[in-house]
Amino acid sequence: MATQKNITVVGAGLVGSLVSIYLAKRGHKVQVFERRPDMRKESIIAGRSINLALSDRGWRGLEGVGIADEIKKIAIPMYGRAIHLKDGSSTYQPYGKDSQAIYSVSRGGINMKLMDLAEQQPNVSIHFSERCDKVDRKNNTVTFYNTVKETEQQIKSDLVFGADGAFSAVRTNIQLHSDRFDYQQFYIDCGYKELVIPPGKNGEHLIEKNCLHIWPRGSFMMIALPNMDGSFTCTLFFQMDGPLSFNSIKTDADVMQFFKEQFPDAIPLMPTLLNDWKTNPTSSLVTVKCKPWVFDDRITLIGDAAHAIVPFFGQGMNCGFEDCVVLNQLIDKHGDVNAACLHEYETLRKPDGDAIADLAIANFIEMRDKTADKTFLLQKKIEAHFNTKYPDKWIPLYSMVTYSPDIRYSEALLNGIKQQAIMDKIMLMPNIENKWDSEEVEKAILNLL
Ligand SMILES: Cc1cc2nc3c(=O)[nH]c(=O)nc-3n(C[C@H](O)[C@H](O)[C@H](O)COP(=O)(O)OP(=O)(O)OC[C@H]3O[C@@H](n4cnc5c(N)ncnc54)[C@H](O)[C@@H]3O)c2cc1C
Repeated sequence: MATQKNITVVGAGLVGSLVSIYLAKRGHKVQVFERRPDMRKESIIAGRSINLALSDRGWRGLEGVGIADEIKKIAIPMYGRAIHLKDGSSTYQPYGKDSQAIYSVSRGGINMKLMDLAEQQPNVSIHFSERCDKVDRKNNTVTFYNTVKETEQQIKSDLVFGADGAFSAVRTNIQLHSDRFDYQQFYIDCGYKELVIPPGKNGEHLIEKNCLHIWPRGSFMMIALPNMDGSFTCTLFFQMDGPLSFNSIKTDADVMQFFKEQFPDAIPLMPTLLNDWKTNPTSSLVTVKCKPWVFDDRITLIGDAAHAIVPFFGQGMNCGFEDCVVLNQLIDKHGDVNAACLHEYETLRKPDGDAIADLAIANFIEMRDKTADKTFLLQKKIEAHFNTKYPDKWIPLYSMVTYSPDIRYSEALLNGIKQQAIMDKIMLMPNIENKWDSEEVEKAILNLL
């Protein structure tokens, strides 16, 4: 092994916990500092169950340190989308082939498990209620303020990983005190609110368990992911402002009227709707792009701190876990987590972080506008059919992002643009709805490839 390093990880979220396991398995001494109290002891999210979709890139990150089986115990496979239309009818679109699935995991559940697994490493310690307030590049210290004891300490270490999320204090500190730091942040016009479909009387799921449910409504949508206890967490993605928006819905009657018009089939499933609406916050959705990710050969941004994205491809956590995989491969290549390794990590991952940020915004439009659109559904059918016949020539964009961790996000973005240009031409073929699976269409695609 290379010389043991003292490593500071800021943030014991999903990515901070996982990267600390990777680094500890290399024999380094890792100290993780987390702003919040220990969520395993104190209920930080006040009983709310928030879930995330975990897919192949994320699983690869977990497998790399041998913890995928542990997480599988708390994950529910979702094999497709159930689309709920306004008239109460629903349709089903499989996500991929056969048993291909994405998995619903509780955010709190997976975070707690990752912290347990990190602490099982003899050389990892997690310190809670420790808020990073300052990164002093000149003196090589990070200052943490203990919010319980109201004391401050300065930590010196060989390496620092900023894994402190979309509003990273590590990144902000560096930005304030550095020349030539590129930073771009933008909010989409939609925010989100979490709501709930509770379990049935016997703890059963009241709608199909192994699906991601979508109520697409043009400029907004609601989705629901299953939880282990029989409930579903619903998320309403909706305009923040405007004539029909979070801000325009003010009273209980407004909420009920909105649901009656838009999601009538969901109302009987949501007995706590009014309470959830009032209790749960309305949150905004941000994209962050920045550069560089590595400073002074020893401070590195990872996860959302480097690339916060909107959640519409279900890839933020998956991308952060993939950061850990790439870093680990580069440690193998360079023999150590040294300057060359960190700089190559940035070189490789920055284009992929940018690509998944752009793909996530594009998928928002697909999910809310197009999942109920006939032409879109026909295009997906043609692509799936062609992919079955020519799997080495065509992989649908969703599958490239979700099920093909060997394809980089940046490659998926470029391939997706090329494929869409081809499909735009195919969809203009006369009578395409009747001959979509014909040899003529197949040949036309092959010619355009
Ligand atoms: C509504 C929504 C749905 C999503 N759905 C999905 C999905 O389906 N699939 C998916 O892959 N991703 C999803 N994501 C994205 C995913 O949540 C993030 O990409 C992921 O949490 C990033 O992990 P992280 O560890 O980088 O950051 P975080 O999870 O934000 O963790 C950062 C940690 O740092 C701590 N911290 C912050 N500031 C400080 C400080 N100053 N000092 C010390 N500690 C600090 C925080 O308390 C936190 O514990 C979703 C996001 C949202 C908002």
